[in-house]
Amino acid sequence: MSRVAYVNGQYVPHSQAAVHIEDRGYQFSDGVYEVCEIWKGHIVDMGAHLDRLDRSLRELQIKAPMSRAALSHVMKEVISLNRVKEGIIYMQVTRGVAVRDHYFPSDDTPPSVVMTAKSINSQKLDQIAAKGVGVITVEENRWDRVDIKTVGLLPNVLAKQKAKVAGAREAWFVDKDGLVTEGGSTNAWIILSNGTLVTRPANHGILKGITRAGVLKLAEMNGLSVEERGFSIDEAKSAKEAFITSASGIVMPVVKIDETILGDGKPGPIVQDLRKSFHDASELIKLEVAGG
Ligand code: PMP
Repeated sequence: MSRVAYVNGQYVPHSQAAVHIEDRGYQFSDGVYEVCEIWKGHIVDMGAHLDRLDRSLRELQIKAPMSRAALSHVMKEVISLNRVKEGIIYMQVTRGVAVRDHYFPSDDTPPSVVMTAKSINSQKLDQIAAKGVGVITVEENRWDRVDIKTVGLLPNVLAKQKAKVAGAREAWFVDKDGLVTEGGSTNAWIILSNGTLVTRPANHGILKGITRAGVLKLAEMNGLSVEERGFSIDEAKSAKEAFITSASGIVMPVVKIDETILGDGKPGPIVQDLRKSFHDASELIKLEVAGG
C-alpha cells in the first residue's frame, strides 16, 4: 500500500511529497517538530504533544499554522490514510518559505506544515527491549535551548551515528559538570539498588519528554520513588538498572554504558515492568482506521 504525506494543505503520495528549496526549515533549521506514538490504534498522549508543539512555536515566534482541532484532524487523517495501527506520526512546522535571509520573513508568510505516519514493527522493538541496548557517552555540545524541539539536530545525528558505529543504540550527552543530560533522541534514567528512579530535572539541559512525564506518572501510580536530579556516568555505571524513554521506543532498557555491563547484562525487573505497563499512564485517543 502506498504511503501518503500531508504537505501544506494537501494529502500527496509520499514519494512525491516536497517543500520548496527556500523553506526555512531546509535552509536554517528554522522549525520545530513532534513525534507521537501510535499504539493499538490509538494516538498516545496527543494533548501533551500538541501542548509542547505550541510551546516550541511560541519560543521561536512561529505562528501556529492552524487550530488545534484542525491539527488533530490532519493527524488522524494521515494515520488513517497510511493505515498505521502501531507506529509513529511525525509533524513538522517551519517558519515557511521566503527568499533566503536570516531575518524573519514578513508576517504574512504562512508556516509550512508536513506530516507523515509510518508503521513500526512492534514485535521487533519488543525483541530489542527484551535484550536491552547499549549506550555510549559523548560530550554535550548542543546549544542552550534543547528544551525547544527544533529540527536542528546535527549534534544529535552525529552522536547517534557514533553510537551506531560503536554497536550501541543511543549516545548520552554529558555536560561540563560530568552529569548526563539526555540521549540523542531519548531521555535518560537510572534505577538505584533501593529501586529509586533517577532522571535529570527538566528545567535545564534536556527536552521535557512526554514519555518521561508518562513514566513519572506511572511511578507515582505504582508507588515507586523518584529523584529528579542529575547523575554522573560513574553513578550510572554502578546503577542496578537503566533505561531510555521516547515516544518511538517508549521504555527501552539499557544494559551497557560504554564498556560497562550493568548487573547481569539483562534488563532488570523494574524497567521490564515499566515497559509493560507504560500505557496505563497514557492518554489514549482512539483512531478510526480507513476501510477497516
Ligand atoms: N530528548 C530528545 C533530544 C529527543 O529528541 C526526544 C524524542 N523526540 C526525547 C528526549 C524524548 O521525548 P518524547 O518522550 O517526548 O518522545
